[in-house]
Amino acid sequence: MAFNVAIDGPAGAGKSTIAKRLAKELDFIYVDTGAMYRGIALYMIQNGIDGNNEDAVSKEVENVNVSIAYEKGAQKVLLNGEDVSGKIRTEEVSAMASKTSAYKAVREKLLDLQRDMASQNNVLMDGRDIGTTILPNADVKIYLTASVETRAKRRYDEYIAKGESCDLKAIEEDIKTRDHNDMTREISPLKKAEDAIEVDSSYMTIDEVVEEIKTICKEKM
Ligand code: C5P
Repeated sequence: MAFNVAIDGPAGAGKSTIAKRLAKELDFIYVDTGAMYRGIALYMIQNGIDGNNEDAVSKEVENVNVSIAYEKGAQKVLLNGEDVSGKIRTEEVSAMASKTSAYKAVREKLLDLQRDMASQNNVLMDGRDIGTTILPNADVKIYLTASVETRAKRRYDEYIAKGESCDLKAIEEDIKTRDHNDMTREISPLKKAEDAIEVDSSYMTIDEVVEEIKTICKEKM
């Protein structure tokens, strides 16, 4: 039987950094479900589809094939066969994914793919609805969160480290908007599963968070 760890939480809580590290330490496969939503969003942008038009997005999503491949342990996102891992990490894609991920057709497209990956492998899967909808029987469920200010400051520091200019207040507003969209949508909104363990990383280092979640996993393995 595969061992499944679900890590959910709002944008910028550190899910992917933590999940990537943990997957390596536990020798599990890391599945970044946000990257799949980003792949679909990129397709909509490239094809000039209005993200506010659910009918148009739902129709187009039939032409999208998103899959995940692994190369030397790193996850690659394939959009209709093309590796788009680099192209999906932009603010434009983030904003589009935040809108299109609310639509039923988009979520249904990814549901089976995500469940299949978890049924066949020991996975650490991160997203918004993994513990509530995708893997309700996950062996471990973590709800990783942090204050809006902390999450915005982390993102700001990442941009600055890359030499990109940015505005802290604008980043904070963007995070608030994405939180709002994710938490208030009708289908699979972001919320803590009843049996999830909440970890607030606001005042923790990455190492501390990794250790805490690793201990929780080891107890169940
Ligand atoms: O995690 P990340 O920021 O890369 O996700 C991009 C967007 O995809 C999020 O803003 C969210 O709206 C959506 N998403 C989702 N359900 C998931 C993972 C991501 O709705 N399981």
